[in-house]
Amino acid sequence: MNLDDAQRLDAADPLRNLRELFQLPDGITYLDGNSLGALPKATPARVARAVEQEWGQGLIKSWNSAGWIDLPRRLGDRLAPWLGARPGEVLVADSTSVNLYKVLHAALQLQQGQRRIIVSERSNFPTDNYIAQSVVRAHGGELLLVDSPEDIPPLLDERCAVLMLTHVNYRTGRMHDMGLLTRWAQQAGALAVWDLAHSAGIVPVDLLGCAADFAIGCGYKYLNGGPGAPAFVWMHPRHEGQVFQPLTGWLGHAHPFDFDTEYLPAPGIQQYQCGTPPVLAMTALDTALDVYDAAQKLGGMRALRAKSLALTEAFMAAIDARVPEAVIHTPRDAAVRGSQVSLSLPEGVDGYAVMQALIARGVIGDFRAGVPELLRFGFAPLYNRFADAVHGAEVLADILATKAWQAPEFTNRNSVT
Ligand SMILES: *Cc1c(COP(=O)(O)O)cnc(C)c1O
Repeated sequence: MNLDDAQRLDAADPLRNLRELFQLPDGITYLDGNSLGALPKATPARVARAVEQEWGQGLIKSWNSAGWIDLPRRLGDRLAPWLGARPGEVLVADSTSVNLYKVLHAALQLQQGQRRIIVSERSNFPTDNYIAQSVVRAHGGELLLVDSPEDIPPLLDERCAVLMLTHVNYRTGRMHDMGLLTRWAQQAGALAVWDLAHSAGIVPVDLLGCAADFAIGCGYKYLNGGPGAPAFVWMHPRHEGQVFQPLTGWLGHAHPFDFDTEYLPAPGIQQYQCGTPPVLAMTALDTALDVYDAAQKLGGMRALRAKSLALTEAFMAAIDARVPEAVIHTPRDAAVRGSQVSLSLPEGVDGYAVMQALIARGVIGDFRAGVPELLRFGFAPLYNRFADAVHGAEVLADILATKAWQAPEFTNRNSVT
């Protein structure tokens, strides 16, 4: 595929007009929406209105009159259909790490001390395993990490409390079979906790259909809620009334404005709210979800998934053709691929410096340390084009051919990679 072919595909893309809803800088090919989604054009004015009118003029009245107090539930309801959940089951609150802490404690408490082991993957996003380490320490349990999904079933025994997995792996973009693994976990008496950080709004998710137990995920990746946007948490309704999450703040109380002395958990997902919601950040996420409403009218998840797979396919083909020395670590099989492509470069080529050189040429992906070191390129079908995929591969090929990455300005590491 050359640039002309890509532009023909872009012209025929049923989602092509959604890109107009984003403010993307000229000359930038943004392939990092899996890390920080792009800015929806409507967000600055909407957040400015929340600041100047709702806060500035409405002051504290806006908790009621502007519906601030309802934002965690209302945003949860808007997200629910994209997760295969029902309205009333999802809450937007806190960060992914904090929500994971809540649901892991809740899950271990459901196991009533009979089971104390959490099983996960060594290649999981570090925060997930760090949080799990803290939770098992508090419960006198253990975190067991596998190197490959085939090693999971033997660990699903009578000691296993929770199978905690990230649905789409942050390094490779490999996607688990949520239905199958949930079933395996539950058949063994364990609970299934899913991290949807790289799934929400980008791959089909059917939490109720899979009968999963708990799920959490990010608002700032494919959902475009902005840097540090609040995260979400879901619990299967069968656990309602059975669980306690440990961060028992006042807004998770059944009657917060009674100001009782004793904590009484709110029913359902509301219990997972700890304290006062970050209204401005919630407003940005609320506005970002309008783009998803627009996508729903153009075919919804089916259309997003089809374009996402076509984009990653086009990028892999362009890499194969132009950068044959790169090794692609993302599954070629569409059934198990998320929406990113990760590749490693031959020994002696500094991946970090290559990514810096790409960014200097306007192609933004990211670099992840580890073994192997990976260059990651995320594809967001709401705004990425086939031309972005081909252009990204062409610039990478040029940087490698010319050894432009060897310039000293590209080898000094910033604090955020
Ligand atoms: C991005 C990501 C997170 C981020 O957690 P924060 O609490 O928002 O920093 C957590 N888990 C996974 C799997 C992620 O990909």
